[in-house]
Amino acid sequence: MARPVSYNLIHKPLEADISIAPMPDGHQGDGYFTTSLDKVIGLARKNSIWPLPFATSCCGIEFMATMGSHYDLGRFGAERVGFSPRQCDLLMVMGTIAKKMGPVVRQVYLQMAEPRWVLAVGACASSGGIFDTYSVLQGIDQVVPVDVYVPGCPPRPEAIIDGILRIQDLVGRESLRRRNGNQYKALMESYGIQ
Ligand code: SF4
Repeated sequence: MARPVSYNLIHKPLEADISIAPMPDGHQGDGYFTTSLDKVIGLARKNSIWPLPFATSCCGIEFMATMGSHYDLGRFGAERVGFSPRQCDLLMVMGTIAKKMGPVVRQVYLQMAEPRWVLAVGACASSGGIFDTYSVLQGIDQVVPVDVYVPGCPPRPEAIIDGILRIQDLVGRESLRRRNGNQYKALMESYGIQ
């Protein structure tokens, strides 16, 4: 007798597989929808982040898991990882940054075009972590401004995804004028960046 074959097919409606980005605030009626340019650009930017992974040690392994099929950062529109600063808008620093690497992190940041954001992943990138030594930078915010810090040693992929979601919140709500504002200019000047 032939062995019965079972297929592991789950019939789900198409909509269940597709996550649709929520529409921005605005006004709608029959056949029209209006909103502001800020919100449309924010919606597009937050769902198409291009990360630049600057991974120097163990936290980078967690990032690899985050990019893998199980956690799949692509679900958030951030699967296009780039290694050219000119193309990326999110600098993800993961791992211990020795003081001699500080200028390199800064150089990569400077080569990124505005608007750009920075995510410090893990205790080492955020504060030096357990390496309170003469050779380790005690947090990358000594050389570049940081938007979101992810705690943990190492942070689990869920924590890294949470950091990405916090960055998405910032990106989606950022006014187009912020980068030209006095507060932002003062922040850059405090880092010696024009
Ligand atoms: S925070 Fe912990 S896991 Fe991450 S790079 Fe530092 S020592 Fe490694």
